[in-house]
Amino acid sequence: MAMTGLQIQKLLPGTNCKECGSNTCLAFAMKLAGKKAELSACPYASEEIKRVLGAASEPPVRVVELGPEKKLKLGGETVLYRHEKTFVHQTALGVNLNDTDPAADIDKALAAVRDYSMIRVGETLVVDVVAVTQKSGSAETFAALAKKAYETTQKPLVLRSADPKALAAAAAAVKGSRSVLAAATPETADELVKVAMENGHALAVTAPDLDALAALAGKLRDAGFKDVLLQPQTFSAAEQFQVNSLLRTLALKDNFRAFGAASLRFVEDDDLLASTAAAVNEISKYGGLCILPRFDAAQLATLMTLRLNIYTDPQKPIQVEPKVYPIGEPNANSPVFVTTNFSLTYFIVSGEIENSGTSAWLVVPECEGMSVLTAWAAGKFSGASIAKFVKSVGLEDQVKTREIVIPGYVAQISGELEEGLPGWKVLVGPQEAGDLESFIKARLTPA
Ligand code: SF4
Repeated sequence: MAMTGLQIQKLLPGTNCKECGSNTCLAFAMKLAGKKAELSACPYASEEIKRVLGAASEPPVRVVELGPEKKLKLGGETVLYRHEKTFVHQTALGVNLNDTDPAADIDKALAAVRDYSMIRVGETLVVDVVAVTQKSGSAETFAALAKKAYETTQKPLVLRSADPKALAAAAAAVKGSRSVLAAATPETADELVKVAMENGHALAVTAPDLDALAALAGKLRDAGFKDVLLQPQTFSAAEQFQVNSLLRTLALKDNFRAFGAASLRFVEDDDLLASTAAAVNEISKYGGLCILPRFDAAQLATLMTLRLNIYTDPQKPIQVEPKVYPIGEPNANSPVFVTTNFSLTYFIVSGEIENSGTSAWLVVPECEGMSVLTAWAAGKFSGASIAKFVKSVGLEDQVKTREIVIPGYVAQISGELEEGLPGWKVLVGPQEAGDLESFIKARLTPA
């Protein structure tokens, strides 16, 4: 919880020696409260204030970084509802493999996970993790599959076994991958914390009820081990929903530090609809890392699209880079279209041009990610600004075409655009992108 300047001042030496660059300890305290100064600037800060301020500046849900380059981040959330601010790190999705699965199935699944890639509104979506579950009873078999999964996909793993010795073998086999060991119980936690620390992995903790889970997570936290995930045990979709909500609410509203961690959930039901529903539950309500029972490309596409809708920042429009985009294989005589750099607008317009079979140039000026009418109303998509952009990118040297198609909704800018681009003819296109194909076929000659 954030501290006020006055609360911080009480913990400072009070000598007003100015060595921190502030005239008084109070002035320095106010800067600290506003996060405009670092405590290290005061050479006389006590151990107590270091501890208290350190805890106060921690996010309510701790960030855990996974993968060899720590690219996958979980947690870090500060709000219960996206509209309050934004969610920070989306629910990571993974696919499970059992070490008793047929070798051919494992090879196929690993290749599929490695190669899976889907582009949505300019973002490349991939499978985040691979889970390896020990069912064989053999630590060697389990560790060998972990190694193979990591070598094939280069993704962080979730290693699941009830046997601490097997987890230790697998953890060592993929040392450096910053994976997750699942899961430590009150009985095995001490042993597994050592294994996790020795090999640089995070540790999921589990317990039969929430009291025991809080006690275990709190114990690890107090001991200074911070890369913890919570794996609560639930037995129905309703309970899963309630428990996830409870954990997050306690962490954010009551500052209950033991539950200030991302969650891990294995979806056990192999039925496609049931597993999709369980994963939707996780994505919608605070899931940190969700493991699906098997690889299914269609299911992943569905879940990732839902996830994208929830975890995009509502305050930041998704945008594409302002530039001239070739659609198909345009040449100097190909038609020229213009639209805004709001991702959805760009992808819809470019898709419709592509569907028409015409190669073209799509001019996308900087519009701060706004859609056509919003950008026009905000003065970001005017005839003058489009003309200026066309000149700045050297389009007139690149193409011989001297016709540019503008969206039908902004027909009123055509005069200003013609003034800004002498020698060009402005064609007013359809209002809806869906009508572009028929417009192109009726009005333009394919290149
Ligand atoms: S250096 Fe420390 S003791 Fe000196 S004025 Fe700044 S806060 Fe106070």
